[in-house]
Amino acid sequence: MPELRQNFATKEWVVIATERSRRPEEMASKRERKQLASYVATCPFCPGNEKLTPPEVLRVPTAMDVPWHARVIPNKFAALSREAQPSRTMHRLRRSVNGFGVHDVIVETPDHAQVMALLPDSYVAEILHIYKTRYDELSLDPRIALITIFKNHGLDAGTSLEHPHSQMIATPVTSLQVRERFQQALRHFDDFGECMFCQMLSEELEEQVRIVAVSEHFVALEVYASPAPFCTHIYPRRHMASFGDISATEVNDLARMLRLILAKLYHGLADPDFNFTIRSAPADSVSVKYFHWYVSVIPRLTRVAGFELGSGMFINTVLPEAATEFLRKVDVEMVKNTAAAATP
Ligand SMILES: [Zn+2]
Ligand SMILES: [Zn+2]
Repeated sequence: MPELRQNFATKEWVVIATERSRRPEEMASKRERKQLASYVATCPFCPGNEKLTPPEVLRVPTAMDVPWHARVIPNKFAALSREAQPSRTMHRLRRSVNGFGVHDVIVETPDHAQVMALLPDSYVAEILHIYKTRYDELSLDPRIALITIFKNHGLDAGTSLEHPHSQMIATPVTSLQVRERFQQALRHFDDFGECMFCQMLSEELEEQVRIVAVSEHFVALEVYASPAPFCTHIYPRRHMASFGDISATEVNDLARMLRLILAKLYHGLADPDFNFTIRSAPADSVSVKYFHWYVSVIPRLTRVAGFELGSGMFINTVLPEAATEFLRKVDVEMVKNTAAAATP
């Protein structure tokens, strides 16, 4: 029987279409990834081409006389401008804010051909520490309301730049979607006196059927009412509303967990296109008891079509419990060794 499931956090319904369900392994893409070179002369993110990008905001390591591991640069084609002072205007029913915002690109490695799923954990930790540093810096700017950290991998995830990178966009307004999720979380807290994410985590840990991996500080699970196959969330086990509250030890543990999930997807589903995003509390609500930040990893295995656009409801053809079982079995030990061997 097909089943409709409601997402506890968004209250959105999804159709889990078991009648047309596909075995998880059938979701592995048939597409051949083209073999990339480690260095591409025309790539603005490859070492030696630093002059092709705006001056960097951050570099790791900071010393200029050693090769860099990672760089943060303003996006040359930024969606928003960091120079402006945000000012609101209202004319009749039309409301706007001038285009202030900060749009950073994090170049994750000098190696053009590398993928995050195969990087050593310590490299992923370095990237996450950069997210945290920039997140903290931007949080102090009173003009900023919301900071979104995300990575697009592959054409179906919205990127055409091959060189491994992620992005961070800080906006002067909070989106309606984030605000509504916040209000749902607050309503839940009012009703139950508990963070709904903490409550969900304790239920999921008890039931086990959607848990992919557990570490000292994090839990990775398949979403019960997942809108698409293999949507995986990584939650801190300790209650924290903002990504800015993460400790250095927790960053290192998150790096291991994120790399593990990306490697399981990489090997289990043949390097799918994916997005990941860090969902954190807006800047003015950093220590609230009712919201809990998390990382959402979304492989782009299916396309949004008319029903989704018309109804706001998604059809998911892979049972989240089957996805869990599948991901648990993907052994990535072998990958660790390969990555370690490939480390310069
Ligand atoms: Zn490159
Ligand atoms: Zn919580």
